[in-house]
Amino acid sequence: MPQLRIVVLVKQVPDTANVTGDAMKEDGTVNRAALPAVFNPEDLNALEEALRLKVRHGARVTVVTMGPPAAVQVLRESLYRGADEVILLTDKAFAGADTLATSYALSLAVRKLGGCDLVLCGRQAIDGDTAQVGPQTAEKLGYPQITCVSRIDELVAPADVAHGAVTATRSIEGGFETLASSLPCLLTITGEANEPRPASVKLVMTYKGIAAEAMPDYDDTYLDPESDAAEVCMLGRDGKPVCRAKVVQWDHLALEADREALGLRGSPTRVKEIESVVLAQSEARMVEADEAGVAALVHELIEEHILG
Ligand SMILES: Cc1cc2nc3c(=O)[nH]c(=O)nc-3n(C[C@H](O)[C@H](O)[C@H](O)COP(=O)(O)OP(=O)(O)OC[C@H]3O[C@@H](n4cnc5c(N)ncnc54)[C@H](O)[C@@H]3O)c2cc1C
Repeated sequence: MPQLRIVVLVKQVPDTANVTGDAMKEDGTVNRAALPAVFNPEDLNALEEALRLKVRHGARVTVVTMGPPAAVQVLRESLYRGADEVILLTDKAFAGADTLATSYALSLAVRKLGGCDLVLCGRQAIDGDTAQVGPQTAEKLGYPQITCVSRIDELVAPADVAHGAVTATRSIEGGFETLASSLPCLLTITGEANEPRPASVKLVMTYKGIAAEAMPDYDDTYLDPESDAAEVCMLGRDGKPVCRAKVVQWDHLALEADREALGLRGSPTRVKEIESVVLAQSEARMVEADEAGVAALVHELIEEHILG
């Protein structure tokens, strides 16, 4: 029975809660060295959804990130939570990519993995905040997409129904919408979907400090317990042997990418400037906490076209 394949796209982001003066370089790209790096919050929710589907359906969870070598840290953190396979796309050629160039590289990585049944990613990253990479990656893969998913209602694996199917509920303005799609499909996951699990001590001890290794040709036999290339490092919750993962590193040559479609060269968008906007408190006044007080406030907000 073919195993369900789930690919999760995660991003290491500058902690935008601490933007400082030297956050941007002259060429309009982010000065990552100036800001602490964190796991993009909604990508942790996407990973959590993948790990829950793995428990329910039995799946291989592969995590992919594109970033500087230091982005290996989000892959370690994915292994600490139970990911089976992790891929680091790192190369000067990828630097300065806008969403078009980023989604191109990510779609090539999914293709190099041989495609999959489900791609999960965060709704948006807290630095670029465009929410564009998920939909663009789906477009490049020719996969249907459901965005802003706050709950995966049902997943039917391809083994049970031709192509398989997924039903998911998304948060939309003023309510929710439930959509169904055949597989493969790409979903973008919101922060409402779940409470991400913490790292497991056993997995931290297993993968602490694991380094990336260049493996230009995709060979996943090290994940097959039957193969000599595999090293079983523990038994999973289902009692099955778990093979020690590697951090597989790919550059643009390994992806057989068109160099002109990558990084700054492949990016029609330029970020001119970013600044942190601090809303200064101009005036304050007390509103009576009674019906009349609230009614007067609502009336005023409607008058000022803030409400209604
Ligand atoms: C302040 C600022 C403004 C920007 N504005 C634009 C803009 O208007 N247009 C534009 O094209 N680019 C813009 N960029 C560049 C953009 O940030 C990068 O292209 C970035 O790699 C992807 O866009 P995003 O951060 O908006 O991600 P989003 O589209 O918000 O990310 C959505 C999801 O895609 C996945 N994902 C995103 N990046 C990666 C990655 N590197 N590796 C793996 N998965 C990933 C994650 O699951 C993430 O949750 C901006 C950057 C900054 C810092």
